[in-house]
Amino acid sequence: MSRFLSKNYEKLVPYTPGEQVNVKVIKLNTNESPFPPSPKVKEVLSEEVIDKLNLYSDPELKELRSAIAEQFGVTHDMVFCGNGSDDVLAFAIMGFCGAGGKLCCPDISYGFYPVYADIFGVELEQIPLKDDFSIDVNDYIGKNKNIVIANPNAPTGLALSFDEVEKIVSSNPDNLVIMDEAYMAFCGESCMELVKKYDNLLVTRTFSKSHSLAGLRVGFGIGSKDIIDDLNKLKYSFNPYNLNTLSIKAAAAAIADNEYYDDKIAQIVETREKTLADLRALGFKCTDSKANFIFASSDKIPASELASKLRENGILVRYFNKAKIDNYLRITVGSAEDMQTLVDCIKKITEA
Ligand code: PMP
Repeated sequence: MSRFLSKNYEKLVPYTPGEQVNVKVIKLNTNESPFPPSPKVKEVLSEEVIDKLNLYSDPELKELRSAIAEQFGVTHDMVFCGNGSDDVLAFAIMGFCGAGGKLCCPDISYGFYPVYADIFGVELEQIPLKDDFSIDVNDYIGKNKNIVIANPNAPTGLALSFDEVEKIVSSNPDNLVIMDEAYMAFCGESCMELVKKYDNLLVTRTFSKSHSLAGLRVGFGIGSKDIIDDLNKLKYSFNPYNLNTLSIKAAAAAIADNEYYDDKIAQIVETREKTLADLRALGFKCTDSKANFIFASSDKIPASELASKLRENGILVRYFNKAKIDNYLRITVGSAEDMQTLVDCIKKITEA
């Protein structure tokens, strides 16, 4: 730490991202897609676009917001875009819960929520999940605090139904409910329709998982025009050009290519179900994940040891050294071949 860091940030515990590596490994640790992005992405990243990089990107993000709005049947003024959905979550938690505000989230969930709460001076209540890792909706009824929930939740993969989300949103009319749908494309029940009915709901999504564009850094939030106006006010007070021209073009092309992504998402879901069946056959306890990852635990070997042994075999998975989940691994659903290699390797390790 330098002598210059503000006292406010001395005790900050930053989020720890999953490892990125340059050597050839089977990378199942950060929930990236095993598929390349849509070919349409390459097509739009033309020389003509590159030649115009002397100009600032469009701060209004008209092209991308319109493309997203069209997909979800909303107007472009209900869409806010960020540099990854982390950026959208940061603006929302800063703007709607910041400096003395109140927020609650499940105790086992996306590790960034407590970090944002900390950096923005938000009082955070972490509500315990049930023993089976599911969320008890009753814990969030009439909460009188802002709420952020990942749906499907991470790292458990378990999802709330549309009706359950509506109960939470409708019973907290004077607080913002952020539903983080980073993993929703992989088979949950999206609550996106509810943004037309409730003005206290913000639904966030990302191009990083279902759209094979984690490296592009684009995410978005959809909510009432007033919420989006507020987020834009914050953005224009911080970094008006928060998306670059290449990201805007590439994401707009990707979001329109449903044919390509529907097929890739279906393949990931099929591989997830097969891998779940294979791991359960090996005696693993796995949640009924609706995301592009599996959350698994074995009585035969501690999760930390299994993660190390997999690593020795060139397979990276995510281990969280955290109470309640420290005997579980979060394993990204990769290609069918890579998941077969994983299962074979686990069999070898657990039978040795
Ligand atoms: N929400 C959840 C639940 C996540 O797991 C992630 C990925 N780490 C994000 C949001 C942020 O993703 P991105 O910034 O890549 O859009």
